[in-house]
Amino acid sequence: MKLVPEVAALDAEMRDWRHHLHAHPETAFEESATAAFVAGKLAGFGLEVHTGLAKTGVVGVLRNGTAGRAIGLRADLDALHIHEASGVAYQSRNPGRMHACGHDGHTAMLLGAAKALASRRNFDGTVYFVFQPAEENEGGGRVMVEEGLFERFPMEAVYGLHNWPRKALGTFATRDGPLMGAYDIFEIVATGRGGHAAMPYVTRDPMLFAAHMINALQTIVSRNLHPQDAGVVSVTQVHGGDTWNVIPEQVVLRGTVRTFSREVQDLIESRIRGLAAGVAATFEIGATVRYERRYPATVNSAEETLHAVSAARAVVGDGHVQTDPVPELGSEDFAFMLQAKRGCYVWMGTGEGEGTVNVHNPRYDFNDRALAIGGSYWVTLAEQQLPAREAA
Ligand SMILES: [Zn+2]
Ligand SMILES: [Zn+2]
Repeated sequence: MKLVPEVAALDAEMRDWRHHLHAHPETAFEESATAAFVAGKLAGFGLEVHTGLAKTGVVGVLRNGTAGRAIGLRADLDALHIHEASGVAYQSRNPGRMHACGHDGHTAMLLGAAKALASRRNFDGTVYFVFQPAEENEGGGRVMVEEGLFERFPMEAVYGLHNWPRKALGTFATRDGPLMGAYDIFEIVATGRGGHAAMPYVTRDPMLFAAHMINALQTIVSRNLHPQDAGVVSVTQVHGGDTWNVIPEQVVLRGTVRTFSREVQDLIESRIRGLAAGVAATFEIGATVRYERRYPATVNSAEETLHAVSAARAVVGDGHVQTDPVPELGSEDFAFMLQAKRGCYVWMGTGEGEGTVNVHNPRYDFNDRALAIGGSYWVTLAEQQLPAREAA
């Protein structure tokens, strides 16, 4: 382990920041106290600070030397709607809200990196510190991109990091290509002709449609996808009917689709539409399909993945950086930034054996021992990518 000394020296301070943020969690687009905390710290380190992007987003700017080249480092600010049960001394003071995904740790680490980079002055270029709101569910990263993040702060590449309790502390993992999946939702409304359940021959039964449709949807992955492509189609809600002896007029099916590539996503959407139309025609009823693409897949670009791996190796050692992890079909809002800009997203291991609690659990707490590792990764990445010029 080769921690950056200036980051290691900030360990206690980063823990204090993290515990303060943990005690005062705020959720999507309401992170005003969190944003003010971050903006205040960045200004204190001597950075130029921009607030208000995507409502509660903050961007810190640190220039050095000729300041010609630029990269972006991104953290997320938001908490989740969870009642905390961790029992830590700095437990949430905001009932029903909790930093259960470790974004308090991500924010503290990136602040530590900003302070260390500002004091070391060992790079030539511009580093943008991007603190985005609303990573969970609401797509704050997309809003930042739409509001001109990359036009206002022109950068060559953007980098993201997430703590990963299911991998060991002191390790990193990432890969070229898709690391996390796209998240889509669908709703199928089947409308028939309701009537007396004892006289079904005068009705057009949408229940029958639902039964056949759920089965038919399961043929998409098994019969239409190439065996080496990945995808998930899950029906998660069935709504219809109110009593024993009435065939309802309408049945609603809802569910989710997870994919890694645009081609597979297009194929699944078109098969859902085709199957719905076909099954509806079979039973002489009407069916409408609403298909919504929520988060795209998180897809790393090749060159930036090498950069991220190189920085991680410099900190934790060659043998502790996995470059072929199995991707996860969970989704990540950083995907919107990677659609607009080259870059790389990494998982930073924070697990310490059996008792480690995973993210989104009410007993989860970010592992403070990872703060200096993550901060050192950021500083190393920035200094490797924007190397200081030799004195003339
Ligand atoms: Zn989360
Ligand atoms: Zn998260």
